[in-house]
Amino acid sequence: MATTTRFVDVQALAGLVRALGTSRFLEALADTMREDFLRWPEFDKSARLASHSALGVIELMPVSNGQRYAFKYVNGHPGNTAHGLPTVMAFGVLAEVETGQPVLLSELTLTTALRTAAMSALAAQAVARPQSRRMALIGNGAQSEFQALAFHALLGIDELRIHDIDAQAMDKLERNLAAFPGLRVQRAASIAEAVRGADIVSTLTARKARATIVTPEMLEPGMHINAVGGDCPGKTELHADVLRAARVFVEYEPQTRIEGEIQQMAAGFPVVELWRVLAGAEAGRQSEDQVTVFDSVGFALEDYSALRLIHALALQHGAGRDIELVPSAGDPKDLFRFTRPQAGS
Ligand code: NAD
Repeated sequence: MATTTRFVDVQALAGLVRALGTSRFLEALADTMREDFLRWPEFDKSARLASHSALGVIELMPVSNGQRYAFKYVNGHPGNTAHGLPTVMAFGVLAEVETGQPVLLSELTLTTALRTAAMSALAAQAVARPQSRRMALIGNGAQSEFQALAFHALLGIDELRIHDIDAQAMDKLERNLAAFPGLRVQRAASIAEAVRGADIVSTLTARKARATIVTPEMLEPGMHINAVGGDCPGKTELHADVLRAARVFVEYEPQTRIEGEIQQMAAGFPVVELWRVLAGAEAGRQSEDQVTVFDSVGFALEDYSALRLIHALALQHGAGRDIELVPSAGDPKDLFRFTRPQAGS
């Protein structure tokens, strides 16, 4: 039975990712998420608890399977980058259900980008056309490199058309991806130019608004849209007619109805939960020409998988350190011992 908590901060997590290599880490994350999605009915699930403000949202995301409990704290503040802060920041805990002992306290900002990318690639593996090679990446901020690398590693995407309203964000993405010669990166002057001829379109923009990054006239037969940036009420990226024209896949339907692109649609609008496709219970794409959409919002189970993997890797590689997050030694009924005046003081 664990008595200490492993603490993994940003540097420790970054060290783990470097030790494995980003692609291998993304593949390991996707494998772990697939395993957990295949055990979907075992998990106690709920839509996340969101606290909205004028400039953003702060959310708590719990999930449990009776053995391990996990939660993530995460925010979404699109205006943050103007003040030198990330749009998304997160941390989380993995605990033993039997005792309540937290076994891992981890950074989850970097991890959220990694797990979101691995989840996007896992969904695309299940529903995009297998011969997909070219992807449009709209929104070139913090998430974008991870998405590019996940689609390269897991789907064989080797050509990227990138576009952002911020030229410096495009410069940064080009610079960071220059180290990956297997990926050809081309800048596009507009969203329409980036999307033309793409097999997959990833939207990763941040604006708390009903945006229409992808409109129906941009759709091409067989296209897969990986819609990541629309992830809370009043924050969407796809025109409603794009959804009407597509077969739409979601993580956890009750949460996505509130937060996803499908918040624009009536309650009965048909969607398929992705775990059913992974489990072989429902078809993914139904024809070569069908347009598919992964309406990603980010679900607690993905963070559970990430925490589970980080915990195992941290112990294996000696990453992070054990901390006394909760009292771990001595008489458990004598909590007062921590505040008792020391002899001589
Ligand atoms: P970021 O702020 O670092 O980057 C967003 C980029 O989008 C910026 O470079 C901005 O200039 C660009 N942009 C905004 N409007 C645009 C437009 N109309 N056309 C082209 N580019 C535009 O944010 P990030 O951390 O990269 O996150 C991207 C989005 O993904 C956010 O909305 C975030 O909330 C969301 N997100 C979703 C999940 C999920 O699981 N679905 C996980 C993490 C982040």
